[in-house]
Order: sequence, then structure tokens, then C-alpha cells
Amino acid sequence: MDSCDSENLPIFQHKKKLVKAVQVNPFLVVTGETGSGKTTQLPQYLYQAGFGKDGKIGVTQPRRVAAITVAQRVSQEMGCSLGREVGYQVRFDDCSTENTIIKYMTDGCLLREILADPSLTQYSVVILDEAHERSLNTDILLGLLKRKVLLARGGSSSRRIPLKVVVMSATLETDKLSAFLGDCPVFTIPGRTFPVAERFCGLIGPKDTDSTVYVKEVVKVALDLHTSEQAGDILVFLTGQSEIEKACDMLYEKAESIDYRYDVHDRTVDGLLILPLYGSMPTDQQRQIFQPPPKGVRKCVVATNIAATSLTINGIKYIVDSGFVKQLNHNSRVGLDILEVVPISKSEAQQRAGRAGRTSAGKCFRIYSKEFWEKCMLEYTVPEIQRTSLTAVILTLKCLGVHDVIRFPYLDRPEERFILEALKQLYQCDAIDRRGHVTRLGRLMVEFPLPPGLTRALLKAASMGCEDLLLPVAAMLSVENIFIRPGQPEKQQDAEREHMKLIADSGSCNDFTVLLSVFQKCRASDSPSAWCRDHWVHWRALKSAFSIETQLRDILLRLKQQRDFPVEKFDGSRSELFRRCLCTGYFANVARRAVGRTFCTMDGHGSVVHIHPSSALFEQESQLDWIIFHDVLVTSRVYVRTVCPVRYEWVKDLLPKLHEVDAYELSSVAREEVTDEEVAKWEAKEAAKRQAGESAEDM
Ligand code: ADP
Ligand code: MG
Repeated sequence: MDSCDSENLPIFQHKKKLVKAVQVNPFLVVTGETGSGKTTQLPQYLYQAGFGKDGKIGVTQPRRVAAITVAQRVSQEMGCSLGREVGYQVRFDDCSTENTIIKYMTDGCLLREILADPSLTQYSVVILDEAHERSLNTDILLGLLKRKVLLARGGSSSRRIPLKVVVMSATLETDKLSAFLGDCPVFTIPGRTFPVAERFCGLIGPKDTDSTVYVKEVVKVALDLHTSEQAGDILVFLTGQSEIEKACDMLYEKAESIDYRYDVHDRTVDGLLILPLYGSMPTDQQRQIFQPPPKGVRKCVVATNIAATSLTINGIKYIVDSGFVKQLNHNSRVGLDILEVVPISKSEAQQRAGRAGRTSAGKCFRIYSKEFWEKCMLEYTVPEIQRTSLTAVILTLKCLGVHDVIRFPYLDRPEERFILEALKQLYQCDAIDRRGHVTRLGRLMVEFPLPPGLTRALLKAASMGCEDLLLPVAAMLSVENIFIRPGQPEKQQDAEREHMKLIADSGSCNDFTVLLSVFQKCRASDSPSAWCRDHWVHWRALKSAFSIETQLRDILLRLKQQRDFPVEKFDGSRSELFRRCLCTGYFANVARRAVGRTFCTMDGHGSVVHIHPSSALFEQESQLDWIIFHDVLVTSRVYVRTVCPVRYEWVKDLLPKLHEVDAYELSSVAREEVTDEEVAKWEAKEAAKRQAGESAEDM
């Protein structure tokens, strides 16, 4: 890759000072406008300065696509093949080796690595990137690394040389981050930005939250500006894959009919290149996003929030902002985490607009009204730690020896009731005991990158020797939707017919068994990809499911060899065995039929739920009594998806567990290794040193 490209980035001027700052400070916060070169360049600078000799340079990202894309880019810039000196690791996809020096990974992956190697002995530097996004895992890593570096200073570490921690963030949160890390220095990369004219188009008001409405308006605005504005590329923000695909289809169709001789205001523009960008997109397709469009053609990228800060596309002059984002939120009505579409915050809207002003003045078209801005949008996005389930994270903390999960150093403290709820769930899955200590089972569970209930079901199956039933199900639940739902009505009917056949062929009316059966049938066929095409099933999803199943099987095998693995006996049919294992994992998600086609959950929330139309059990409600379910979708109703009928006898002994324990009891905890006083003392010492000019002279 041409080196002068990277030498034009704002960060290049500060290379020496930056390296020095990392050398002299245990913690450093680095900030600068998006696109200034932090993510792609700083790891390379550290590599050139020899940091790689003492260990890896690890860079975390909240999003997996960002980790993969950036690693690709950096390996190109360094002229090496991906997976060697520069690699990446994300859940279920490891493209790195022992010898990888610059390793991009998701924050979740680093958290798992800390479990296996608490001192991170493999690393010389850890860079927590995109800290302003405030993802749950990055927040936890911040607290852990703060503790870790403190402990190391107290002499209790197996490291030869101290770990360096760099936290990179957009300008928003830097003071808070620095204060959290003992008032550590903040390195600001100065950068020039150009004005962005912002306009409220007023097409969406506070009541228009339906995606069909805003997708249509977004398309209209994008086409209007394409015909009326000067050359320059467009970036459209929507919330997810299906919306983005719909918008792209509409754009293709309409852009085709434009007569560029008469309809387009700027005569240098004679075409529109439409490109989608979302998380689960194949990576070779993602690469196209960064290529400049052919001469005279305007590029229009339709993206999720990933294009807001994680990835920078050059040449963008216009933004079309839908005002919405997909976000994981804890729904206290049903007591579960739910992916929902919500209005973005004002600060997020500003960030999106800023993407148009990187290299020249730009324009941002907000499709919503000023009223929407004032009534529906928060000032700032609420950190994930304050709005999602903490179950998996708390189990990780407990396994790392952080017993007092209430007094852990959180950058923003989650509400205590969320912590208590997580403890209760862990107790219900037998991951912790009544005193809040991790059980043998909990230590097995933490090894699986799956939701706790699913892991519990899998381990139950493994202890009964029937993991072959649960491994494929766990894999299938870890990939995106497997059934293709085509847009055109005739094709839709065809697909539905095939799907009904698959359900009937699975032999039983239970969504988990359908997943198992699709997995097995596809794998057994002569040509799995052709099988998928014939049955309207996503081949890409199945292919990942096969790979995930193998990885889960490997983890299980290793644990069976290394650990004292529980063994249980069961006499009964395989179908009953299968469903009983599911009950063990999902008994907190149990519901009993109430009136008509509705069910009522048993977890104390007592919510009324409906079976989702995509379920094999839809319209068979009247024949059911008790069900368990994998997840929930909230629209105007609360729907449960991936459902399995069970018998009362199988859950009745488990149900008392939903109520028997007082969560406060679980939080009564052992003393911490690092006390608050020790932290305060260390912070004071750092501050004194800085005043004496010892460590930050080069800042
Ligand atoms: P920051 O982390 O400060 O936001 P980055 O390091 O991500 O900045 O980006 C620096 C520059 O590298 C940007 O101009 C961006 O467009 C470019 N870039 C990043 N990834 C790619 C890629 N995959 N292909 C082409 N250019 C890229
Ligand atoms: Mg970045």
C-alpha cells in the first residue's frame, strides 16, 4: 500500500511523541477526530518502535466487522499476509497465530483471553479502541486493566515487564476516562474538520417509528440529493441488514430510471453506485466500500452505525441520517435482553453528521423533524453496561477472582438490581452457589462463548452423553437467521412451502429439533450448498454453523479431558432427553398457556407472551400447555421465538429455583484484593509524579 497515503493522516505528525508517551505512561488516553489514523496507524508505530519484541500489540474493537476490516487494511499497509504478523480474532473466527504481533480482536475475545492468562503475559501493549462506544466488554476491560496494572505495581504479577494500556476514544469521553485511570495523560491528535450544514427534513415525527416509513424517506432523500447536489459520495445510516437490503433494492430500481442528461443537476455525475455495509456481510464485499468510485459515478454507501466511528470511508460529502439504531436493551417487562430499533442520541447524530466534513465542507440531511430531535433523542447514548444483562460478564468477573461484583471499579456503575438479577440467573443455572462463589459447573460454563442458558443445556447434554443433539442447536442459534425470505410474492410462497416441508420432515413439532434436523440434513447431503439453494436456506449461515459446531465440540472435548466432568445417567427416549436438557438450561424461560393463544411466563414477571409466526408451533397453541423458549421479540406484542413444548413434570422441580433465593444473599461477598484506599493512594501518587514532570513531559 502506498506509504504516502498514511503519511498524510493527521496522526503521522505526532508519531514520535505518541510512541514516547506510550513508553513512559502505564495508562494513556489517545483521542482525535475519526479518520485521523488512530486505529490503523498507532499499532504500526508501536510495532516499528519495538513494542512487538516483548509481546503482542493487542487492539480491541467493540464490533467484529471493524476488527476484521481494519486487520485486513493494516496487513495490506505492512505488506504481509493477513493472519501472520497482523491478524484478527473474533468470536468463532481466529485468523492469528502464535507469531502474530499486531492482533485486532473484539473486546469479548480479550476478555476470554484474560480468563486463560490473567496477567496477559502474551501482550506488551493492550489498546482498547472505541472506548467512547461504551460497550459492555470494553467497560469491563477498563476496570480489569485498571486493577491489573495496580496489582502488578504491588508486585503480584507474573509479568516480566509492565503491561501498557492505551485507551482510544472520540473526543467525547476523554476527561472521564483519564480521571478513571488515575488522571492519566490525554494525547490529543489535532485535526482539521470542515463545516457540515445540517438540515432537518421533517419527514419523520415522534410517532413514525415503523421501519417501512423511514426506509422509504431515506431513499427519497438520498435520490433527491443525488440529482440536486454537486459531486461527492453519500453515506446513509440505517439500522440493520434487512432494512439496508431493502433500501438498496429501492435505490437500484429508482436510480436506473434517472436520465442523467436531464435530471441530474451536476453534469459531472452520471451514475450512482450503491453499496450496502453491515456486520454479517461477506468480507470481500466489504472491501469494495473503500474503493473510490469510477470517474463520474457517485458512491452511495448504505450502512449501519458501524460507519459512524469504527470505519472511515473516504470521499463522503453527504450524510442521510435515519435517526435510528439497533440496540440491545434489557426489557424489564419480560426480564430479557432484546435487540430493538431505537432513536439515536443527539451526540450520536452529531457524530454521524461529522462524517461528511472530513476532507471538505459537507451536508447532513436528517430525515426527522426538529420535534423528533427534541422529544425522542437523548443527549448521550446510555452505556451498554447500564442497559443490558450482566450475567455473562459477572460470571467472567467471578471466575477472575473478582468476588465483590458490586464494588468493582465500573466507569459507570450499573444499577444494583441488574447486578442482583445477573447473580440470580447464575445461581439458577448452577454457575454460582448460595454464597456467590463460582461452582465447578460455572467454571465449565465460562469457557463457552454462548449465552448462559444455552451453555447450561449443552453441559447437561454432555454429562448425559448426548452432546450430539445440543452442539448443532447451539451452533445454529449462534448464526443469523437460516431461512431465506425472498421479497417477491411467488418466490415467497415457494420458500414457505420448502420451509414447511423441512419442519414436517424434522419429525416433531419443536423449533429446536427443526434446527437440529436442518443442520444434520444439510451436512449429510452430497452438495450442502445446493441443498441450501433447493430449500431456501442461507448457505453462508449453515457454513458458519458447521464451523461453530466444530469449535464448540473442541472446547467440550478439551474440558472433558482436562477437568473433572460431571456424568449423569438417564433412561428414556432421545426426544425426551433432548427436551429435558433444554429445560435445564431454559427453565427461566418457561411459560404456561393462559387464555386463547397466549402464554404466561413463570419468572415472577408473569408477562403475557405469544408464539411468533416463524415458529413451527404457531397456530398450534391450543394443543400446548407448557413451553420453553430461546428468545423474545417485542413489537406491539411480546413474541417468543424458537419454542419447545415441555411437560410440567420436567420443570416442576426446577421452578422453585426461580423464587427460592434472595439475590442479596448471593451478593454477600469476600474481601477484595485491592481496596478503594489502595486505589486512592495510587492515584494520588500518580498525580504527584506528574506534577513533578516525571512522566508526562513530552505531552
Ligand atoms: P481513526 O481510528 O482515527 O478513526 P483509522 O485509522 O480508522 O482512523 O483510519 C485512517 C484512514 O485509513 C482513513 O482515511 C480511512 O479511510 C483509511 N482506511 C481505513 N481502513 C481502510 C480500508 N480497509 N481500506 C481503505 N482505507 C482504509
Ligand atoms: Mg478508529
